[in-house]
Amino acid sequence: MKSTLRRTWAEIDFDALKHNYRQLRSRVGEDVKFLGVVKADAYGHGSVQVSRVLQELGADYLAVSSLDEAMELRANGITMPVMILGHTPREEVGKLIENNITQTVTCMAKAVEYSEEACELGKNLRIHIKVDTGMSRLGYLCDGNYFGTGVDGIVEACQMPGLEAEGIFTHFSMSDEDKAECVEYTEHQLKLFKDVISAVEEKLRHKFAICHCANTGAVANYPETWMDMVRPGLLLYGYGEYAEKLGLKPVMTMKTTVSTIKTYPAGTKISYGGIYETDKTTRVAVLPYGYADGFLRCLSNKVELMTAEGHARQIGKICMDMCMVDITDKMSVEVGSEIEIFGPNNSINRIAELAGTIPYELTCAVSKRVPRIYFDNGIIVEKELMLRG
Ligand SMILES: *Cc1c(COP(=O)(O)O)cnc(C)c1O
Repeated sequence: MKSTLRRTWAEIDFDALKHNYRQLRSRVGEDVKFLGVVKADAYGHGSVQVSRVLQELGADYLAVSSLDEAMELRANGITMPVMILGHTPREEVGKLIENNITQTVTCMAKAVEYSEEACELGKNLRIHIKVDTGMSRLGYLCDGNYFGTGVDGIVEACQMPGLEAEGIFTHFSMSDEDKAECVEYTEHQLKLFKDVISAVEEKLRHKFAICHCANTGAVANYPETWMDMVRPGLLLYGYGEYAEKLGLKPVMTMKTTVSTIKTYPAGTKISYGGIYETDKTTRVAVLPYGYADGFLRCLSNKVELMTAEGHARQIGKICMDMCMVDITDKMSVEVGSEIEIFGPNNSINRIAELAGTIPYELTCAVSKRVPRIYFDNGIIVEKELMLRG
């Protein structure tokens, strides 16, 4: 469905995405492959659109969370390697193979299922082995006393018929924090990962084609983790403190417009619960942007949005479809004026901090009723509204 409404929208800047990709590419060097993480609809930016750009730029791999997400890419012209980071039920192994999708293998039980299904089809499934080095989520547990059984389990999976182990990877849980204990934890994860790889490769007498572990924090902070491939998500989209330090640009700008302006006397309660009461004659703009668009309600009465005349305070509770801002001293702001929720002039990092969360959650929260407007070379190249119709 094509949106014609000029109300609230997310601008996605391919120029910023290309800039970020090129910066990161030159940071890690030509010899390191680049996997772009495009799960969760590319963190809310549109996985098909983002993947098309990455494919054009020559990225090596994409990663998604589920088969449905992978199939969306395949159905829309993405032919480059795609990896599923999460679980896929055994019934879908045929679909994985047919669509040339790489599957993560996280434990013996899954390896057995995938091997059996692939053998039944008389085909090979390309897999990457996931090692749990301290995230304590998916993957072969290999720390401490589990080292031996973990390594043996991985070796066994790599030798199962029907499975072709192209790669092995792990995931850091604290690489984006500078505290000494986090650095130590990350270094332990990396050492363990390398030890596992050596032990497995020695038993297999064969090297993995792609060993990888570097997420955003590791791409920014730990060059020694880059190995054969890096796997950033957030950095690619240009958010977080490291993106700022590396000169990356935010890809998404959330914008809305002023629906109505009213002037209230002192003592007027604004929005549900009346948590904000005017203390002077106050000029208030109503914006068609609420928690159903992705404006977290916990930000109520705390956050500032950017007008042409500078920051304006959001006042009262954020509603489902609307919120209010104080524009008393911003007389050039009129009905129809554009307001930047977050973007180059109003950092998403600051808003995430106010909400007690991370930028990831804010871009993932941009809902399907918010049209995405794609810009390339500064001009609109696509508008997408995800509502049916
Ligand atoms: C989401 C994810 C990433 C990307 O994380 P960022 O912090 O956005 O760089 C990398 N690897 C795995 C396994 C993930 O789940």
